[in-house]
Amino acid sequence: MALPYELDALEPVISRETLEFHHGKHLAGYVNNLNGLLEGSPLAGLSLEEIVCKATGGVLNNAGQILNHELYFGQFSASKADNGPTGKLAEAIGRDFGSFEAFKEAFQKAGATLFGSGWVWLSADKEGKLVITQEANAANPVQRGLKPLLTFDVWEHAYYLDYQNRRPDHLAVLWQIVEWGVIERRYRK
Ligand code: MN
Repeated sequence: MALPYELDALEPVISRETLEFHHGKHLAGYVNNLNGLLEGSPLAGLSLEEIVCKATGGVLNNAGQILNHELYFGQFSASKADNGPTGKLAEAIGRDFGSFEAFKEAFQKAGATLFGSGWVWLSADKEGKLVITQEANAANPVQRGLKPLLTFDVWEHAYYLDYQNRRPDHLAVLWQIVEWGVIERRYRK
């Protein structure tokens, strides 16, 4: 996938250098790996979501990381003050977490306490109820039948160049660049 913004568009929250490595090297590596692994495989031709729900081993890991990063990179835009959800999604966040502030606190805590590499997710279940989950390594909520809406990548490659060991500091400022229109479209789908 091409980034839907310039490499320096997310500064100072995510630097150009981090995006060059994260998108240009890490994601590109997963894409190359998966293309190699799918050659001659019956899974070739399926959607990423289908592969993530059916595959195992290296195919699952690389397909999962591609799906996760497409959702991650696709949900940001330039930093905004007073950034937040509106409409039905804002109502659901209030209903299921008490308030937007309480949701952000719970989401950041889930990201900060995820041990090792993985992702924290906001997803919707079949009834539209919102849930926060921690997923290890390359896992994605579609594997549990959930619809993924928003994710923060807590692999060290996502923040180490800019924040070193300060993962909580990185998570706390990501809210400035979330493009809530994208998250609301995912929720409506
Ligand atoms: Mn990553």
